[in-house]
Formats: sequence, structure tokens, C-alpha cells
Amino acid sequence: MCHDAFPAYRGKMEYECLGCGKSFPTDQLLYTCPDCGGVFLLKDRNCNELKKLSGGEWRKIFDARAGMRCTPLRGIFRFYELMAPVFEPEDILYLGEGNTPIVAGAPALQEYAGIPFSFKNEGQNPSASFKDRGMACAYSYLRSLVRRHHWKDVLTICASTGDTSAAAALYGAYVGDPIKTAVILPLGKVTPQQLAQPLGSGASVLEIPGVFDDCMKVVERLADRYRVALLNSKNSWRILGQESYAFEVAQWYGWDVEDLALFVPVGNAGNISAVMSGLLKMRCLGIIEGLPKLFGVQSEHADPVWRYYSKPVQERKYEPVAVRPSVAQAAMIGDPVSFPRVKKLVEAYEEAGGTFSVMQVTEQEIMDADMLVNRHGHIACTQGGECFAGMLRAGKAGLLQNCREAVLDSTAHALKFIDFQNMYMDGSFPDAYGVTPDARLANRPVSVLTEKECRGLDRMTLAERAAAQIASMLGLEPLKKA
Ligand SMILES: *Cc1c(COP(=O)(O)O)cnc(C)c1O
Ligand SMILES: [Zn+2]
Repeated sequence: MCHDAFPAYRGKMEYECLGCGKSFPTDQLLYTCPDCGGVFLLKDRNCNELKKLSGGEWRKIFDARAGMRCTPLRGIFRFYELMAPVFEPEDILYLGEGNTPIVAGAPALQEYAGIPFSFKNEGQNPSASFKDRGMACAYSYLRSLVRRHHWKDVLTICASTGDTSAAAALYGAYVGDPIKTAVILPLGKVTPQQLAQPLGSGASVLEIPGVFDDCMKVVERLADRYRVALLNSKNSWRILGQESYAFEVAQWYGWDVEDLALFVPVGNAGNISAVMSGLLKMRCLGIIEGLPKLFGVQSEHADPVWRYYSKPVQERKYEPVAVRPSVAQAAMIGDPVSFPRVKKLVEAYEEAGGTFSVMQVTEQEIMDADMLVNRHGHIACTQGGECFAGMLRAGKAGLLQNCREAVLDSTAHALKFIDFQNMYMDGSFPDAYGVTPDARLANRPVSVLTEKECRGLDRMTLAERAAAQIASMLGLEPLKKA
């Protein structure tokens, strides 16, 4: 490997409880505070040392790393010092996550939206969602623990709306012995593709009747009573890894993000916490100056964070909601475990001069947006469509004036959620979603020649007849012989 290129700096990471403020060492895996049950953020207590370099020097270091051939620094750990500067290069797991493309909105779509925007295609991560960022970090941490403590067996476990389990199973399978993976899914509430992923990776796949919030409670019981490594976003190592999204956006835009607007779908609220934490970290070290406008987006079928922030400050009260079926199924969460993180980080974000808002959108808007953007050559999942719909809403509300560009987080690949597109096209959406398809967007395969017409034809004759039929269907003009 590239040990001489690997950074020498080592941090002193501690868990910091957002409930009682106490700190705990990271030589063991903790998910929540043993004293008060609060959630953690990871803090590098040595980080004042990082301030010895200027923001400009850090920018140069990270830009130079983008061209380096050093596997452990290729993905999210390009930003090693900002991330988990306690791992040795041999702990770091790299399956190709991170460094996802930022793709400009198609010209006709930009015109339609009236706002310059791009998608960051998180579906181009190895398990086809942004969850790989957090998993790469959490599994690197587990590997460092296994190395130091010589553990003989480790069972990782997570509850999931589909993508966490796909990522956990993939990384677990790659690491192999002594790690085994079990995932807990709400029966019938993940897409067939998401269910196939952990099965293919060889994880134990356990289905529970109910919704994600029910599965989360089961996992918490297990984590309280047995020795398991919980990989939900309650695990602060995952949040840490997901901060890399913010670092990459900043780097791509030349470290000048002040007049950008970032849109992130909110489910368990881990991702929006990570993005905020990452932005604040860069700002603290002078790597960026102003903070971008930050927008969370929620469906009206799962909107506890929107409900909280839509009220005036003095009337705000957090209450879980009962979710209804949502095409943004990966964000269909009524009681987000990271809500305390959001609350804390929004305070810090606003104090540092940034703005944070949550947009609420309908299921109809999400689905129409998803169909529309993908008909313009994008590969957005329904949550990416949700961001587009949120951007349109924010634009209408006048919140995007003076905004140079909106960056929409398409959190997964379109193919993971393709059955929603199919239901839209064949008009089979269950009523509970509240989606009425636009029949003009229905697109079906058309057969050329019937089986009967083909019977007994040799290949040349068949090609001749099929070509003639296709030419007639598509209205093609024959070439004129010269
Ligand atoms: C997990 C997930 C979300 C929601 O992210 P949170 O961190 O739970 O808020 C959104 N989209 C996709 C595709 C996901 O997998
Ligand atoms: Zn505590």
C-alpha cells in the first residue's frame, strides 16, 4: 500500500452525548449514552492541531489527494483528517464508495425548473445508495476493533428501510471472518431489489410484520441485551462516514458553497445530520467560508421533522408521526432516531450564519418529479425525485433567490425503486399512496411480429419482416437509391 503517502496525523476520537454532554472513549463500540440514553456525535479532541494549517493549505492537500494512487485514500477517506483520523491504512475498507458524480440537470429540465441545479448521484455507490459511505466508516472502525481486541466473532445487525441492510450485508460479506451480518426488514416494505441485495450477499435476512420504526425497536432490544454491533445510523461512525458527502460537494464547487442550496431527503435524519456536521467542520477549519442554504425534504406521509420546523420557535415540540405508504419508501420513518442530532446541529448551523429549512411535498409531487427527471436522462430514485419536488417548492416560495445552483441528493439508484415507476405506468398504484398517474407518461413494450407470424421463418425472412414492420411503426422513410 502507500504507507508513506498516508497522513501521519492521528486524532483523539471520543463519543460526545447530545443528551448530557458527557464524553466516552472510542475503544469500545457504543451506540447510545450509557448514562442517559442520548445519541452521540464523534468528536476529535485533537482537532485544534488541524487549525495549524490554514483553510487554503487543507484545500490544497485534499485537491492533491484526488489524484493520488493510494487505495485507502481513494474514497471517503480522501478527507482522512476530517473523518476518522484514528484508523490505520490496513483498517480502511474501500469498495468504491464516495466520489460520486455531480451531474448537471438536463438543459430542458433546467429550463422547466427555472433554477440551475445538479444531481449528486449517490446511486453510483457500490450498493447503489449513499449508505455505503457510512458503512465504509463503520466497518473500518469494526475492523480496527477486531484487530486490537482479537475478537473471534462479531455479529452486525441493523434494521432497515432497505438500503442500510444492502450496504451492511455487502461490506460484511467483503470483510468476512470474523464478521457475520443479520438484517431486520419490515415485511413487504422494501423493494424486491433491496430484498435481493442482502440475500445475495449471504446475510441472515429477518422479516418482521410492521414498519421500519417497529424493526428499530427490536434491534434496540437486541443491542441492549446481547453482544451485537448495531449498524443503524444511531451508530455515530456511520454519521461520520456520511459527512464525506458534504466534503465532496464543497471540493467539486471549488470550496465555494455559500450561494449553493443543498437538498437532502430526510428519513431517520442521519444523512442531513451528517451533511450539516461536515459543513460545520469545514467552516470551523476555514476550508469553506460561508455556509450553503440547507433544505431537508419530507413527504407529507412521513413528515415529523417538517412538522417540527414549520412551527415558530417557541411552539416547536417534537412528536413522532404514524407513517402512511410513501414512494420515498427509504425515508418512510415517523420517529427519526437522529432527531436530537438535527436539533443540535441546526442550532450550530444557524449560529454560524447558515440557514436550514424543511420542505414538505406530496406523494404526487414526488412521483411526478421522479418520472419527469428520469425522462430527461437522470437516474434519480424516488428520494431524488423528492428533492427535485422540494426544490420546485422552495423556488415557488422565493427561498432560492440569489442561489447559484441547487444540488439535489439522489440518495439511491433509480433501479432500486423501479417498481414505483412500473405502478405509475400500468396504473396499479394502491390508493393509500395518493398518486394519480399521468396516463401520457405510460410507456409499454410493443411486440413486433407475433410468435405465430414467426413460426417456420428462416432468420433472413424474419429479419426482413420485422424490419419492415418496425419501419412502418416508427414512420421511417426508405433511403433513396443513388
Ligand atoms: C436511508 C435513505 C434515506 C434517508 O436517509 P436518513 O439518513 O435516514 O434520513 C433516503 N434515501 C435513501 C435512498 C436511503 O437509503
Ligand atoms: Zn448522556
